[in-house]
Amino acid sequence: MDEILKVKASELRTKVHSGEIKSVNIIEACLTRIKGTDFKVKAFLKLSEGRSLKQAAHSDEKIEKGEKYGFLEGIPIGIKDNIMIKGESMTSASKYLENYVSPYDATVIEKLKEAGAVFVGRTNMDEFAMGGSTETSAYQKTANPWDIRCIPGGSSGGSAAAVSAGMVPFALGSDTGGSIRQPASFCGVVGYKPSYGLISRYGACALASSFDQIGTLSKNVKDSALLASVISGRDYRDPVCEPREGIDYVSYIDSPDVLKTIKIGVPKQLLNYKIDAEIAKHFNEAVEKLKLSGTEIVEIDVAAYKYVPALYKVIMCAEVSANIATFDGIRYGYRTSSSKNLNDEYAKSRAESLGYEVKKRILFGTYVLGAKNYYKCYHQAQRVRTLFINQITDAYGKCDFIFSPTTLQMPVKFGETLMEECDIFLTAANLAGLPGITVPCGFANSDMPMGVHFMGSRFSDVKLFQVANAFEKISGFDMNKYPEL
Ligand code: GLN
Repeated sequence: MDEILKVKASELRTKVHSGEIKSVNIIEACLTRIKGTDFKVKAFLKLSEGRSLKQAAHSDEKIEKGEKYGFLEGIPIGIKDNIMIKGESMTSASKYLENYVSPYDATVIEKLKEAGAVFVGRTNMDEFAMGGSTETSAYQKTANPWDIRCIPGGSSGGSAAAVSAGMVPFALGSDTGGSIRQPASFCGVVGYKPSYGLISRYGACALASSFDQIGTLSKNVKDSALLASVISGRDYRDPVCEPREGIDYVSYIDSPDVLKTIKIGVPKQLLNYKIDAEIAKHFNEAVEKLKLSGTEIVEIDVAAYKYVPALYKVIMCAEVSANIATFDGIRYGYRTSSSKNLNDEYAKSRAESLGYEVKKRILFGTYVLGAKNYYKCYHQAQRVRTLFINQITDAYGKCDFIFSPTTLQMPVKFGETLMEECDIFLTAANLAGLPGITVPCGFANSDMPMGVHFMGSRFSDVKLFQVANAFEKISGFDMNKYPEL
């Protein structure tokens, strides 16, 4: 592996902008790494080889000539395949969108273009981000770079694997119920989901609109903060995007004493779950490390955690059923070649192009929204969601951050299933619109990595980055270690 690929994004930025290294050399190194290893990992669905090299040459020229250049000028990035780049395909890993060409840029893409970032390629994912293993992709199964017999997690498994394998320094993902943070943990990288409304979702393919957020995957916390600084901020085109200006998270990130000033809450409910023994061991060690750094650890009680999986399922599927209704085979996307009438056309177009997981969720979502079930299922779930949010809000009266293992299980082999509660502490953040970040904390005996998860109160993202950054320094995890491929 080329040494240049071990340089983290924030340092790459300094080196490229000072003229010490050329963006073209970095992009070439990324492409070589991808070509040499991605036949095993299958993180990318599509590479933009010619365009990224051309763009890098242009960035180098601007820097050389002393012309105005962007904040991330010449720095490579991977983009999950459910975020639109004007004039390029976006499949969301579904056959339905196989030939779809994005008519406009997502807001995050617009911001990254303005910043001069170089889009190396599109990363694989679960179909329409439905899944936690990247196995529901209609195109390929991505492998975990630490053990290619195992899943990388999902749905942003392509982005996580690409960053983990050193193919790109960072990548964009989307997180509806843990889809950035779970694969980040499985692949040994940092994954950040912002507070709901901090980063525009305009131009991202919707899964469940009241949960969806775009976020970041990177080798360290600082690089996630760097990327978040570029893509966050108000956007009138996303109605739930907060009217807040973007923040330069990096300038706040170093706060050496932050761990001494905070209270960390560990949910009592952790004991109710069957947690992998090695994850439990590493988590307890992480708690001890925080204590040694002066952090006060308190126990919190959020009884409604037990409702999280069911709540998520009912509300997410209901929103899926509404969102995917636009995929009718007529306006855009796949259309069947033989149909008898209009209804037949809808049915066949969807039956022929959507995967099993997507169909299952549409059916379940339509069921819970049906006139007979609406009150007892969907409406009731929304009420319990409020109950859960109230309990979490109360917990923040006792602590500043909620701390848990990122997942309750280690990555499984292909074809095996994760237990339903595996991501419960991640999904909790989406249900309540809270920010969450996973930081790698160690390796299991199997040599597979794992992470711990910090969840902050709404819009505590600046402090969340500070805490995660401080934890990273005491975690003992070597982020200069890359999987051998
Ligand atoms: N694994 C969860 C699901 O299958 C989360 C998906 C996501 O966050 N996009 O729905």
